[in-house]
Formats: sequence, C-alpha cells, structure tokens
Amino acid sequence: MKIHLFVCLLALMASVGCSRIGAPVNLRCEYRDNPIGLDVQSPRFTWMAGDTSRGTAQTAYQILVATLPEKLTEGEADVWNSGVVASDRSVLVPFEGKKLRSSTRYYWTVRTWNQDGKASAFSLPAYWETGKLNRSDWKAKWICKPDTGTPLRSVAFKKPFEVKKELKQARLYATGLGNYVMQLNGRKVGDEFLSPGWTDYNYRVQYQTYDVTDQVKAGDNLLDGMLGNMWWSSGLGWAGAVTYSNGPLRLLAQLELDYADGSQEIIATDPTWQVAFSPIVENTIYHGETYDARIDLSDPSLWQPASVIDDFEIELVARNDEPIRLEQELKPVAIHKMEGGDYVFDMGQNMVGLTRLKVKGKPGQTITLRYAELLHPDGTVAQENLRSAKATDRYICKGEGTEEYIPSFTYHGFRYVQVSGLTEEPAPEDLIGLVLCSDLRFEGTFECSEPMINKFWQNTLWGQKGNMVSIPTDCPQRDERLGWMGDAQVFAPTASYNAQTAPFYTKWMQDIRDSQAPEGWVTDVCPYVVVGGPAKPAWGDAVVIVPWEVYRYTGDTRILETNYQAMKAWVDYMTSQSKDDLYVWESNGWYGYGDWVAVEASPGQPLAQIYYHESMSILAKTARLLGKEEDAARYEALLPRLAQAFHKAYYETDKKNYMGGTQCANVLPYWFGLVPEEIKSQVVQNIVDNVIAKDYHPTTGFYATAYLLPILSETGHHDIAWKLADQRTYPSWGYMVEQGATTIWELWNSDKERPEGMNSRNHFAYGSVVAWYYGYLAGIRLLDEYPGYKKFRIAPMPVGELTYAKASVPSEYGMISSSWTKRDGVFRLEVVIPGNTSALVSVPLADGQSVAEGTDVLVRDGEMTGGNRFIRPLDIQEGRAVFEVTAGKYVFEVK
Ligand code: BGC
Repeated sequence: MKIHLFVCLLALMASVGCSRIGAPVNLRCEYRDNPIGLDVQSPRFTWMAGDTSRGTAQTAYQILVATLPEKLTEGEADVWNSGVVASDRSVLVPFEGKKLRSSTRYYWTVRTWNQDGKASAFSLPAYWETGKLNRSDWKAKWICKPDTGTPLRSVAFKKPFEVKKELKQARLYATGLGNYVMQLNGRKVGDEFLSPGWTDYNYRVQYQTYDVTDQVKAGDNLLDGMLGNMWWSSGLGWAGAVTYSNGPLRLLAQLELDYADGSQEIIATDPTWQVAFSPIVENTIYHGETYDARIDLSDPSLWQPASVIDDFEIELVARNDEPIRLEQELKPVAIHKMEGGDYVFDMGQNMVGLTRLKVKGKPGQTITLRYAELLHPDGTVAQENLRSAKATDRYICKGEGTEEYIPSFTYHGFRYVQVSGLTEEPAPEDLIGLVLCSDLRFEGTFECSEPMINKFWQNTLWGQKGNMVSIPTDCPQRDERLGWMGDAQVFAPTASYNAQTAPFYTKWMQDIRDSQAPEGWVTDVCPYVVVGGPAKPAWGDAVVIVPWEVYRYTGDTRILETNYQAMKAWVDYMTSQSKDDLYVWESNGWYGYGDWVAVEASPGQPLAQIYYHESMSILAKTARLLGKEEDAARYEALLPRLAQAFHKAYYETDKKNYMGGTQCANVLPYWFGLVPEEIKSQVVQNIVDNVIAKDYHPTTGFYATAYLLPILSETGHHDIAWKLADQRTYPSWGYMVEQGATTIWELWNSDKERPEGMNSRNHFAYGSVVAWYYGYLAGIRLLDEYPGYKKFRIAPMPVGELTYAKASVPSEYGMISSSWTKRDGVFRLEVVIPGNTSALVSVPLADGQSVAEGTDVLVRDGEMTGGNRFIRPLDIQEGRAVFEVTAGKYVFEVK
C-alpha cells in the first residue's frame, strides 16, 4: 500500500510539471525490466529520455538507490546517491553505492537535465533484486534419487510444508542437473521452459529465482516437480555420443518464506524431500520423451527419501540472461490423414519448441508424435535429415476424460508432426505448436515493397528464434544443436538488429571462456562438446568478434573488460603458431572449414590470416578503449605486418586476383581491410566481374555472404547488390523463398542435396544478408566512433523497383526508425532519432533537386541553403545530401 501511494505521488509530481522536462522512462537494470535474482555486484542502469521533443539531449543525471521506494529522496536514499553527474551517459551507468546484500530488493530512480539545463522530476521507481551473492547463502544440498538406471529415468520430487504465519514474500531459488520443472500447489513455478539452460556443466550451472509469493498459501503447501536429462545427460553431438554425466539427476532448491513478523523460514533440498521415478519413462533431447500417464504418483509406495550428494561441487551462477519462454502458439494450418490411419499436422511454419497434445483415449493407448521439417512424397514425415535424432514423443493415456500433454525434457525443430495411435479424427486444437526461444527483446522490424524480401526477413527471424535457445546453435533439429562459433559470430550483427542480444551473448561468452585451453585456444563448439583442439579460422574468432559486436551495438564496455584476457589469449595463441607474421591453420593438408558450404569453394588457407588480422585489429581497439596502452601499441604495430604477409602470400599479381579468384577470395580481404589502397578498385572489380560472370548469383559460403552486398553497395554497385538480393534462381536467398522455405537453409541447395545428411532447413548463417536490409535498404547503420547508436547513420539507399522500405531497430536509447517512400518523383524519409542520440541523415539527391524538412528548405537546386537548431547541413557528396540531426521525429522530402 505504502509503495503504491508513493508511486502515485511521484507520478503526480511528474505530470503536474514540477519541472520542465519529462522524467526518464523505461528504466532497465542490466538490460532488463525489474530483474530479480541478479548476482552482478555492480549492476548497470539504463534509462530513456522522457522527452520526445526535438533536440532532447542529456547533460547531467542523478541516480538514487534505496532499500524502500519511499526512501528514494535525496536526503533518504540509503544505498546510493550518485549526486548530480554532468554527463550525457544514459546507458549502462554502473552502480557505485554500498555493498549489495544477497536476496535484497533495491529500488532506484533517476532524474536528468537537458541541453538547456532544465531538470526532470525523478522517474517512477524501478527495482532489481539480488540473488545469492555468496556460496554460504545456500542452505540447500544437492539431492537425488539413488539408482536411476541406464538410460537415466526422469525423477519426480516433492516436499510438503506448512505455513503458519502471515507471509510477506516468498522466493524460490532453484536449479537442476539436468533440467527441472517445478510446481507449487499444482501450478507451474515461473514461465520458463528448459531451465536451468545450458552452460558448461563441467564448471557451472545457472540457478533461477522465482517470486512465488502468490503461490504460497496459509496452511498445507506442496512443492514438487521433475528432473530430466536434457543437455546434462541425454547425449549430445553426432549420434548423441557425449554426456556430461551418467547421473544421477540432481536438484538444488531453496524456498525462502519471509513472514510479516520479520522472521524467515527456509525449505531447502535435504533428505526430507521425497523422490520417485516420474511418469516420464524415457527422455532425451534428441530422441524425445515418453510419458506414461498411468503412473500414479499418489501411490505412496513409489516414493522414497532423497539422498544427499555430498561430494559434488559446481559453481552456481545466477541467470543474468533471458530465460527460454513460450514465444507464441501455432495452430496447424492443415491435417492430412495417411493411409494407415496416422495424421500429419502441418504447423505452416518450420518452428522450434514443443507441442501441446489433447487426447481422449483408453488406458494404455499410446499416441506417438514424430517431428520433421520435411515430408516424403507420400505425405508422411521425412526424418532422414535429423540423422540419428529420433525426434519422437509418446504419450501413454491414463484413460480418463480429455488428457493434455506437453513434453518437459526435449525440444524439436519441425514443421510437421505425424501422429499415430489416435482413434478419433483430431481437430486442429488437439495439437498446438509451442514456439520456444530465449526471450530476447525481438523488437527489430523490416518491410519493403518486395514481398520476397519481406518473407526472407521473416524467415531470418524464425531462424534466429529457433537457434537462440539458451545458446546460439547451428540448428535446432538434428543430432547436433551445438554452439558452433563461426555461425554465431557471422550472424551477430543481424541478430543485434533484430533483437537485444547483449545478455544472451554475455552469458554465452562465459561458455566460450570455459572452453579455453591454457595455451589460449578456444574450441569450435561452445559449450565444448565435440571437436577438440584449437578452433578453426573464423570459428575461434568468435571469442573476439562477439563481445566486440555487443560493444558496437550497445556501448557495453564491461563485456570487453570481462573477456579481454580471453580475447588476448586467443590472439596470442595464433601469434605463437604463426611464422613470418603469417598464421596458417593446417592439419594433414586440410586448412579448416573455410568459407563453409560455399557454392564455389575458395582455398582455405587465407581465412586463417584474415581472421587472425581481424581478431588482432579488434583486440588493439579494445586495448585502446580499456586504457591498456602498451598492449594497444604492440598490436597496432603488428597489424600492417600481418596485412603485408597476407598480401604477399595470397595476392597473385599476374592474375590481379586473390588466390582462388572467387567472390569470397576478394570479399573477405576487402571487407576486413587487408587490401592495399592501390589495388582496392581492382579487387572490387574482381568481385563485380565474378558476380556478373555468375549471372548475378552469390557463390559464397557462411562468411563472404555477409559482406558481399555491403561491399557492392558501398563501392558504387548498389544496383548489383540489389540484383543479388532480389535474385530468384539458384543460388540465392530468393531461391529458398521461392521453394517455400519458412526458415533459412543450411545449404543454398538444401532442396537438391541428396542423400539427406548434413542438410538442415533451419540454419541462420545465410540470414546475415538481413543486416544489409536494415543497414543499406533502410539505411540504419552504426557509426563506429559512437557505439550503441549514441550517434548513428540513417542513409537509406533506394534501388530497383522498390517504392518503399522501412525498419526500426532497438537501441538502448529507444527505438530508431527509418521509413522511406518513392512516389511521383518525390523521395520522402521519415526518421525517429531517440532522445539523447543524434544521427547523420543522408538522402539521395539528383542534380538540381531540393530537400526540405517541413517548411525548412535545406537544399535548393542542388545547393545547401542552411539548416536550423536541429538540422545542421554537412555536405553534398556523391549524389547524397548529409545532415547532422538531433533527437526527434523528422520528415525529409527530396524532389
Ligand atoms: C554445423 C555448422 C558448423 C559446421 C562446422 C556443421 O555440422 O551445422 O553450421 O559451423 O559444422 O563445419
């Protein structure tokens, strides 16, 4: 009640205009809204300007942190008062107050001053809550059921408890190995799926914090749930050969009941908990789950006391990233009856997650669900490309009324589900697709006047969701689903246009560091599962590229600090393996995966030096940024030597081409700045000539694909880039769409490649072209000197028959948007530049044209005429007029 009144008072103060400018909004702590269970010692605060008027910029801020919302006043803030800080920083400002205590809620508020020195009121309060900051905060012990057999059976657990006093709040801290699901008084705890998520279980596991205040009742309560194998003990990698453990499955949970009288009671896993085999009689991540509903856990004879595992140590870390949640439900678009009586449900979309089955059956009647991305010509599901993954769930009916079943300890990548064992004709509602993914803020949008492009953008989003399930995976369906480093790094820019990726990648970086050998090398797949030894070129470099991309898209320097040693160790490892400044990865004449699954293969060896140089270049920039001047100077001095060594080894002067002469051979050195100035135009010409010789088709693999179009657009060949983007015949993105793809294929010719083997229909790597949609068609691009969109570019490039394109992208300052139309000779551009940012807006300008924004004429007959307080004309160059524009909404017209 008190809180409520106080909040109202603050809101009132803000609205009656106690001060001139709007109070900050969208307060986030560690990228999230009011997170609970954080174990970050110095969490960082982000807020957005409450003012949307033009020119809004912050010049100072003040943050207050207190243990109660009513203490959020200057005199009373008992945890931190930052004082008035003259700064334009509103993103990721670190907490610098008193030492934080475990399991404590902290409230915070912020006020700001704008460009005219006007102050806002303090914002509405936000909060975060700490998790367990010390190992000694854990009273719980790891428990298990003894003898869980081989293969491991799923285990049920339960703990009744009584609440005798008035409850103030209840928190549950829980984790399991493998996965766990929990319920309190018959209701699921939290809204997460597949918890605790995947980490390198050799070292650490995440725990989750749940606010269960509303689920606890006076009197008798029951906490219960199940454990299953998932990533921990299912078997991972090809044929599922690798496991972290052969069991037993284990649980760690601590329910903390805080009573109104100030006392606390802790219900923690110990031998008083009961365990039994659960009704899930089989479960593995790849093969699926079998649930026998006839197993009745109300039978006391099934239960036994839990055993405590004393000799088990693993680091417990809070979940600081986004959990996996239900993203949406899909109702089948068609149900086809097969000859033998099976039904094939078509979800209409290649999706990732689970299904919810509704069935009325006889006791023991078995319903089998087989999942696939594809169909055989006869309409039955085709599972050949899942390789050894059986992707099959089974439900054995209890035989009482309508039964409902959602598997707990598996997930599938599928569009079709073949259901056998039904005795009645099913309705579409009887099998609903539950789309699961790590719940990032998927706020990016893109649309243009070409439907094929829009469809490919959507396919990319589906690909990203389906392959961001706790970690970035290569694919979600076959016996793999691993954190392949190369795929992840090349897709990171597109991923970061589509969504807020920082917490997700920050967590994954820990998995990468966990894979790092003392010699500095990291593994191809992280968490490390298969393929030992030093990662291949372009794969290992994810350890450097991913944190850098996060920094570019958010301005987050902490991810660079945290990973600096790991980045450096990787680069130094490559140096230790190089000779005469040249790094070559080689094993029995094989040079690594190269520009993976390209149509026209390129020689593999140059990739090593290209990525060695790129990693070192990022490392040098990072060192400068973090004030490690000695390192910076050393790496900066090495870079030109690496570039020269590359040029010497791989440029074939007689052919005026890089070794192999493919698109990739020229694209990668050009993009990564390895091409000497005097041959740059030659190299671009090589790319253009090759593209034309291939009749405007990309022939590139995972890496060169990402940079082919940006290079063309930036070097005066935007029309050629568009021809490639809009291409419909093989190989092209349009070809996939025309063949009915609803996600992105692993291969340009996934439809033709036979026999089915390494051929997933849901791999995100080729989706990297979408960064070009956002960055060039819609024109929203980062400026390297102003990370996190503090200042950015809006430079849309209309092309071909396009009549409009629009995009919005999430930034920590707020949504950025760019939307243009071309109609009757008028080019119209609407932009939104969030408060406390600015942009370089550039519009295409033909000879003699004028540019106006509202009533202000900015360019008349091709000449800059002047701007205003918000729009500063910069120059007219290469057919574009460029303005520096402050925050706000603007509409530019060129005619
Ligand atoms: C994965 C790829 C991965 C590659 C490495 C494949 O099996 O699916 O996406 O990067 O192996 O060569």
